[in-house]
Amino acid sequence: METTTRRAPVIAIDGPSGAGKGSVSRAIAQALKCRYVDTGAMYRAVAWMALHDGLALDDEAALGRLATEAELVLDQQTVSVEGHDVTRLIRTADIDAAAARVARIPAVRDALVARQRAYTDAGGVVMEGRDIGTAVFPGADVKIFLDASPDERASRRASDAAHGMGGEAANLSDVASALAARDQSDRTRQSSPLVMADDAVLVDTTGVGLDGVVARVLDIVRKRLGTAP
Ligand code: C5P
Repeated sequence: METTTRRAPVIAIDGPSGAGKGSVSRAIAQALKCRYVDTGAMYRAVAWMALHDGLALDDEAALGRLATEAELVLDQQTVSVEGHDVTRLIRTADIDAAAARVARIPAVRDALVARQRAYTDAGGVVMEGRDIGTAVFPGADVKIFLDASPDERASRRASDAAHGMGGEAANLSDVASALAARDQSDRTRQSSPLVMADDAVLVDTTGVGLDGVVARVLDIVRKRLGTAP
């Protein structure tokens, strides 16, 4: 008789800003009945709290302490830090830039990676970020690297109302240059730079709608997990 029970799966979804990680990861988590974890929101929440407390963004010791000690709660829809609901407040251009700065600090990364690993204690997870397949879960069951052309990523970001820069206010070329600067910072930092894991599957979402990308990723995930119909 078959007695092995499959451990809850860990699905890593990495890629640059605007590649569609958020919407795709949520949909995959829903389809697999797994927890969805947005690790970018954790870096954003630490950056928001640092600015709120007047900390310097190069004060490594203070930021490391903050990332270790702050009460940080991610549920499927909201993010709060030290009791402040920051769900919307962390989706601004200022926090985009501040999050990329705090994400360069090894003590911040170590603290948040430890918290990210603990999410698997409660079951399967779909976790999105920049270093999930390379640093957080090198042994993840499935690794997806989502990408899209820089133009498409910038125009998605510019029309993303949830990002607080939507509608008329978003100037495409400003968004494109901010995105390029953040990409450059993420790809060149010393500590866990954004890079595709050797065993990740690259999914180029340029010109593909959300439903198409979700279907493609779900197909890859089910084949890898051995649960394809
Ligand atoms: O994904 P999102 O754009 O919300 O992430 C905000 C910033 O947090 C990124 O630009 C990156 O600097 C940092 N980040 C990271 N590692 C992750 C997730 C996000 O360094 N796993």
